[in-house]
Amino acid sequence: MIVLKLGGSVITVKDKPMTPRPETIRRLAGEIAEADVKLILIHGGGSYGHPVASRYGIKGGYSSENQLQGLAETHQAMVKLNTLIVEALIKAGVPAIGVPPSSLIITTDGRITELELQALRGMLKIGLTPVLYGDAVLDTMLGFTILSGDQLASRLAVELGAERLIYGVDVDGVYTKDPKRDEAELLERVTPKTLRELEAASPTAVDVTGGMRAKIEEALRAAERGVEVVILNAMREGIILKALRGESVRGSWVVADADD
Ligand code: ADP
Repeated sequence: MIVLKLGGSVITVKDKPMTPRPETIRRLAGEIAEADVKLILIHGGGSYGHPVASRYGIKGGYSSENQLQGLAETHQAMVKLNTLIVEALIKAGVPAIGVPPSSLIITTDGRITELELQALRGMLKIGLTPVLYGDAVLDTMLGFTILSGDQLASRLAVELGAERLIYGVDVDGVYTKDPKRDEAELLERVTPKTLRELEAASPTAVDVTGGMRAKIEEALRAAERGVEVVILNAMREGIILKALRGESVRGSWVVADADD
């Protein structure tokens, strides 16, 4: 079984609210159909979930009653994006089924502590492809928070014994610096040491790695538990098909047991 996380930067236009990339979504659905593997798909929020969640401060937890409206809107924005992905998959011939994480998961200070797996296990067993996403979830300490698709993907890969976890983003993998801002080299191998180096380069509250640092942290958690993890560029045509088939692709392999 494989867990595939598609980043919000891949399936949406990140700086334009509620703007999907229908062509990319259709192409990726086709690649997933062609690969024909047992799969759980997770997608990010991109320009659907993020703007409304940050407007209402959902990630920081409960501070006022009017945030509940924001939580509802955040979840609904994600349901809309999920519908686009699921419909594209069904059209491509994949028996995809949207599964809302907020119905299965509770976090404690942002980390998953309750996770109901029975339905997911059953869906996989029968041959369905569950499609989950980063979501607004209840949290025992914060009241509610945002659960990232990256954490969810890593945790599901571990709990369900995935052989491979693929993070599809809009760059070729992890670089020495943000490749969109600076000239940087691709790191084909990412270890806990890489994470420490990126942290040292950006120690303050202003995290210049964006979501990449958190993504590596989540990736390492799965790698530590024996899952093969790769971060690659899902914007490149055919790469998801290859990665799902286990063929060699350009990207960054995340390994926990490196002797450095
Ligand atoms: P997504 O939301 O699609 O899952 P993120 O936007 O959180 O992905 O992270 C991917 C982005 O991280 C890339 O588009 C890239 O611009 C940025 N980034 C920052 N630092 C790095 C780095 N060292 N290596 C690779 N990407 C980086």
